Amino acid sequence: MQITKVVTAVALLITVPVGAQPHHAATDAQEIALGAALADKFAAERGLVPRDDQDRRIEAYIQSVADSLGRHTRRRLPWTIHYDPHPGIHSGFALPGGHIVIWGGILSYMTTEDELAAIVAHEIEHIDDDQVSGRIDSLVRTKGRAVTDPSQWRWQEFGASYGETKENLCDYDGAKLAVQADYAPGAYETLLRSFVVLGEVHAPGTPAPKAITDRIEQIRAEIAEYHWEGLTKTRALRLPLSG
Ligand SMILES: [Zn+2]
Repeated sequence: MQITKVVTAVALLITVPVGAQPHHAATDAQEIALGAALADKFAAERGLVPRDDQDRRIEAYIQSVADSLGRHTRRRLPWTIHYDPHPGIHSGFALPGGHIVIWGGILSYMTTEDELAAIVAHEIEHIDDDQVSGRIDSLVRTKGRAVTDPSQWRWQEFGASYGETKENLCDYDGAKLAVQADYAPGAYETLLRSFVVLGEVHAPGTPAPKAITDRIEQIRAEIAEYHWEGLTKTRALRLPLSG
């Protein structure tokens, strides 16, 4: 009995309290500053400075979507969109501290703001789920990086996939975030199916990548799990000057 009590007491001592975060190499302030520095490097290296008016307006629109999602995140970070109009890159990626890059190519696949919310929420989750912090921790541990010295870091290091499990998790939790901000969760499927259909057009007979079809199955199952079947109302994508 006494032993049980001692074991329980020890277990309580080492249990992380609800709401507490695991320790990371960078504080939130350091992570935000590192992300801002990497976003500046990204803009300079990608030739995004100075920015033209249309890109600025598109970025502001994507930012408004990020703001509505950011009200429901676990971490209190300044969610900041950096738009790169490259038409051939159909994705986005998350930098440290709430900084998110969205490439122009993905916008051409969309017709609804809900699809835009889907990808922004996915990228937010890479940060809100501490995957980006974990990557920082790993580079500090294995390469001796200093979180306070942005010259030691490259933005490309945050563009690589986090692997199937974490990518799927970012859709799963991203859909919950999107629903909280009144977006239709089925937009994940719409966006993913664009990749499948265009893949079939450009390479007929080639099976769709399993990584994509798994994510389509996942959002369908999630909609059933949370009884979101009625949440089908979408908003039109309102890209500036697109009518
Ligand atoms: Zn991702």
